Amino acid sequence: MFSFARRSLFPSRCLVCSGQELVRQGVCEQCRSRIQTIGGPVCEVCGKMIGTPGICLECILNPPPYDRVLSVCRFEGLMREVILKFKYRKSTVFKKFLAELIFAMLSERETPPDILTFVPLHWSRMIRRGYNQSALIARELSGYIGVSVRYGVLRKTRNTPSQVGLERKDRERNLKSAFSARGVEGKSVMVVDDVITTGHTAQEVSKALKRAGASRVIFVSIARTVS
Ligand SMILES: [Zn+2]
Ligand SMILES: [Zn+2]
Repeated sequence: MFSFARRSLFPSRCLVCSGQELVRQGVCEQCRSRIQTIGGPVCEVCGKMIGTPGICLECILNPPPYDRVLSVCRFEGLMREVILKFKYRKSTVFKKFLAELIFAMLSERETPPDILTFVPLHWSRMIRRGYNQSALIARELSGYIGVSVRYGVLRKTRNTPSQVGLERKDRERNLKSAFSARGVEGKSVMVVDDVITTGHTAQEVSKALKRAGASRVIFVSIARTVS
């Protein structure tokens, strides 16, 4: 009985390829070596890949409400598979693996924030899915950076339809004023998200945090679809 419970909690097979060689936190060494992290210079603000170090033209002309966005990799290949499994198939065992990847990226580039939190789901979606994947990653990341997760900092006040399949304009309208924030006055805030797609969620969440007095807003995500 005990050994069965142990096995299901800490599977010895890789959750991606089912291999059994050198599996750590659900993912084997060979699959780990296939992860392509974002290399080369990225914009210091929006995280977009650019040719030279610095800030991209778009961020200079039109400064976004956040101070920085950092993503581990692109939303493709192996990591896309892992994130989709994590998001929709309750493979929550991936949370340690994903948090470890974020920490490896952060340790070179950021100092710990005053407040660590995550992009919230609307309560109705939370009930349907049973968990918030970004909250799970944040909780694991918390152990690495030594800052505890603050719940209730951000709230999703409207249940917006899924962003998938919406036109760009509709996506923007869809998320307008969908978030509220509190308890962040004068604090630097780090927000965990799983995938950054258009960046509208990051924009709207950051606006809410800045309105509530946050001094600095950093977004960290596993992956991004935008270049
Ligand atoms: Zn594997
Ligand atoms: Zn930029």
